[in-house]
Amino acid sequence: MDQNSIIKCREWLIKNEISFKENFDLSFRSWIKAGGIIKLYINPSNIEEVKDIVSFLKSEKITYYILGNISNTLIRDGNIYTPIINLQKIQNIDQISSNVYSVGAGTSISRFANFFSKKGFSGIQGLVGIPGSVGGGVFMNASSYGSCISDFLTSVIFMDEYGKIHKKKKDQLFFDWRSSYFHKKNLIILKIEFEFTKKENQLKLDNCIKEIKAHRSFYQENNFPNLGSLFATRNIYKDLSKNSIILYSAFLIHNFLTILFKRYSKTHLISYRKFSKSIYLKMLKIKKIQGFGFSEKTLNCIINLGSKDANKAIKLINNFQENVKYSIRREIIILDKIK
Ligand SMILES: Cc1cc2nc3c(=O)[nH]c(=O)nc-3n(C[C@H](O)[C@H](O)[C@H](O)COP(=O)(O)OP(=O)(O)OC[C@H]3O[C@@H](n4cnc5c(N)ncnc54)[C@H](O)[C@@H]3O)c2cc1C
Repeated sequence: MDQNSIIKCREWLIKNEISFKENFDLSFRSWIKAGGIIKLYINPSNIEEVKDIVSFLKSEKITYYILGNISNTLIRDGNIYTPIINLQKIQNIDQISSNVYSVGAGTSISRFANFFSKKGFSGIQGLVGIPGSVGGGVFMNASSYGSCISDFLTSVIFMDEYGKIHKKKKDQLFFDWRSSYFHKKNLIILKIEFEFTKKENQLKLDNCIKEIKAHRSFYQENNFPNLGSLFATRNIYKDLSKNSIILYSAFLIHNFLTILFKRYSKTHLISYRKFSKSIYLKMLKIKKIQGFGFSEKTLNCIINLGSKDANKAIKLINNFQENVKYSIRREIIILDKIK
């Protein structure tokens, strides 16, 4: 992919009246507020347009990549010539039967959770604070507070690199903790079908959402730009404890103090977490990198302290992974080699 391909692609998009942005600045648009400039950021309005784009790019032998709300992806600095397809305009929610719905992949997860909560369906309220798109959520099998995006999912409609549309049922999609069939494949999730099975009193659902929002804002990072969890783990301290006797002992102490503070003083819990983070970073010998660090609320969250350089964040994550001998699977998608 070079400047000439960009010019050709740009002309084709204009001729076919397909919406796109030029010089899309990741340091402004991504959730981590760092990264380079995407030369062509394409926003098709419907599935027909997605098909036309994919067919055109295939015929020109141009590789492309798909992004949702960029809340789980860290992309390198510099110019990015690979065209990016983003489905933010495909966010229609269509009712198929009384409790069966088709949801466009560009719909935000928060809108999805609020929309179906307002209809009285229960079981999806926990998803309410996840900042991704439903397409990105299905790719990642996003979950929180006991709700998982794949809980009520019945099938996914997606497009391959030839523009061919496929439909797969849930049992063919290998959903696992932060993982799905779509990993390491350049498939475009277009529409997702859900069948909701549980109904609940509206007031109860509204209160549940309120409580989850309050809990999230207390326990999760909300002061600095971040990408949610760095590693795909339910408890980073427990997973780290498998690496050495010292880390195992640290986990026992950490666990005890967390239970104690949670019970008797939530304010002190936050101060304790700040302290435990610095101890863990020393034990793991993580080198400091200017501009990025770790959340005071959890070690499992990298934060931007005021830098636009995604490469620094990538370096910090690589250092962490090396020092823990890749013992925990990374959750964040890193695009450091994208052309
Ligand atoms: C503050 C914060 C809190 C978070 N909390 C949670 C949480 O509680 N639980 C949780 O699970 N996650 C959480 N996350 C992570 C993130 O929001 C989710 O993983 C989300 O599902 C990512 O969606 P996205 O649209 O932003 O995906 P992106 O980051 O844009 O993309 C992620 C991956 O999905 C692929 N993808 C995106 N859209 C499509 C599509 N239509 N077709 C095919 N592939 C696609 C991309 O190619 C990429 O590989 C949090 C993130 C932040 C910033």
